[in-house]
Amino acid sequence: MIQTLESSVIDKIAAGEVLERPAQLAKELIENSLDAGASEVEIDFSEGGRNLIVRDNGSGISPDELEKALQRHATSKIRNVEDLYRLHSFGFRGEALSSVASVSQLVLTSRTREDSIGHRIRSTFGKVEAPLEVSAPIGSEVSVSQLFENVPARLKFLKSDTSEVSQIKTVVKSFGLSRPDVSFKVSKDGELLLYWPIEKDALRRAEEILNVEPLFLAEGEEQGFKIRAFYGAPNVTLRQNRGLWLFVQGRFVQDRAIGAAVMEAYRNLLMHGEYPHCVLFIDLPPDQVDVNVHPTKSQVRFANPSQAFRSVVHVLRDHLHTTPWLKSSSEVGVSRQEAKWLSRGGGDAPSGIEVKDQMTFLERELKKTQFQKKSFALKDSQNLESFPPTLSDLRTASDRSEVFRSESEPSTTARAPDFQWGSLQVLGQMDNTYILAQSDSDFYMVDQHAAHERVVFERLMLNWKEGKVPQQNFLLPLSLDFSEVEVESLLLHKEDLEKMGIGIEQAGPQTLVVNSVPEVIKEAGVAKALQIFADQISSDSGSFAVERAIGDVFASMSCHSVVRAGQALSTIEMKSLLEQMDEFPFSSFCPHGRPVYIKKSFSQIEREFGRIC
Ligand code: ADP
Ligand code: MG
Repeated sequence: MIQTLESSVIDKIAAGEVLERPAQLAKELIENSLDAGASEVEIDFSEGGRNLIVRDNGSGISPDELEKALQRHATSKIRNVEDLYRLHSFGFRGEALSSVASVSQLVLTSRTREDSIGHRIRSTFGKVEAPLEVSAPIGSEVSVSQLFENVPARLKFLKSDTSEVSQIKTVVKSFGLSRPDVSFKVSKDGELLLYWPIEKDALRRAEEILNVEPLFLAEGEEQGFKIRAFYGAPNVTLRQNRGLWLFVQGRFVQDRAIGAAVMEAYRNLLMHGEYPHCVLFIDLPPDQVDVNVHPTKSQVRFANPSQAFRSVVHVLRDHLHTTPWLKSSSEVGVSRQEAKWLSRGGGDAPSGIEVKDQMTFLERELKKTQFQKKSFALKDSQNLESFPPTLSDLRTASDRSEVFRSESEPSTTARAPDFQWGSLQVLGQMDNTYILAQSDSDFYMVDQHAAHERVVFERLMLNWKEGKVPQQNFLLPLSLDFSEVEVESLLLHKEDLEKMGIGIEQAGPQTLVVNSVPEVIKEAGVAKALQIFADQISSDSGSFAVERAIGDVFASMSCHSVVRAGQALSTIEMKSLLEQMDEFPFSSFCPHGRPVYIKKSFSQIEREFGRIC
């Protein structure tokens, strides 16, 4: 028998869609406050957000409309379908308050500017009482308690209080980022957690909320896509992919493709497993995007998703290439970005660095090396393994990278255009990790792994662009296991892989054999590289998926195929590596974004020894 559902049942179903957890309650209520034009919003919660109050100084609701506000599909924000396409409010479905009211104790108190007194309406799990007069300030207060008490199934799925609280903070931060013109105050159990007063400068607000300073502004427009980003320097990164805050038409949304676009813009400036900070606003003509694809409005659909991707990459990349973090800081050296600047023929030369900073940097590095590691010895190794070796220790490499990246940029001055690495005199090797060398005027420490990695990476990229990556065939094909899906997608890209120098054949539903790899690559790096390729292709079906994967695949192969930290090298080997660095313009940073060397002038050293003043 088909029956129309009672509205209380419908409300509960709607509550299931709009409201999965307390953070979504916070989101809906804050949106209502902002829609009401509030310039002050206060959030108070306890019990992991199951009790939550949102207070605002917005327009308020007139007494005769209070009951309507709690009814399903009752909204003051749209009248007809066309309105959906010229929305300027967060809400429009008119279902948040009714949904919340059906699964909680809700008390709504409100007063408009025109009223001399406020009114309060109470709903207990959907049962609404008549409004009462109360004294209240202009604005609204929605107080929700015992959320989901009558929906045990929902209660069971709530995560720990800590995780709910962190979700609520994320929600409030998202509003804080997009609305610097509004002050936000958040308290938990009566204790102030967050407070951001009104701030004229959106970038400043973002720095404060993300606790990253400085952030940089990238702005541009392409094909109707207005892009504005507050982004972090590539050496200030996160270990998890949580640094992207995306706003489309002012709404905080999730979008994998745009996330990929941001990563694409940062390509080769970050190490694997590093993620940038980026607050990204995309605005476009309303008919170019659908915001009504999800009940919680956490996703959008672009009419032209590939243009969205391209616009973000272009605008962000253009700004990243201007390397503003170098210019903004007084401690500038030939870092990876400056090397880029040099290789592009320059522009305004980055400023010099303060001697004091250079000293402390080098001192710190030396101290770490001396005292945390085994030895500090100049040596000329003779009885050594062949070069380059077969395995690289990723762990070691990334541990070390921390040392560099957690400090200021490496200390050097700009490299002269006619500088030749090959002309340096090799002094020896330090801690089996750094090549020590000198020119007529400077002392150099070169990270052997990072340097070699860059060389191999550049060679592979160059070969690939020229369409021929020299291959070596395996006498015994290498057999590798993957999941069935991965095998399928790798085989689908057999030709692309062939162009990259990797020859594969299927050997079973979950097995591939690799017949050939690029000449410069060691066997050990192949499995990881194919895995990276498979992961990227499956998570990214866009038209440039293969192109996007190549840099990462080559970076991974290089990393696994080059000399590693902790490996003794002979003078000849060190000299040969330095010479190879001259083959490419980018030798000053590794493909994962780490600096390759640090340098100190003799005059600085002499100054430190008190030989000159
Ligand atoms: P929607 O936001 O989609 O319109 P809601 O159920 O969230 O639906 O809210 C219903 C209506 O109640 C809104 O359209 C608005 O008129 C009114 N309202 C809700 N919260 C507030 C508030 N904080 N200040 C003023 N009016 C509000
Ligand atoms: Mg709403």
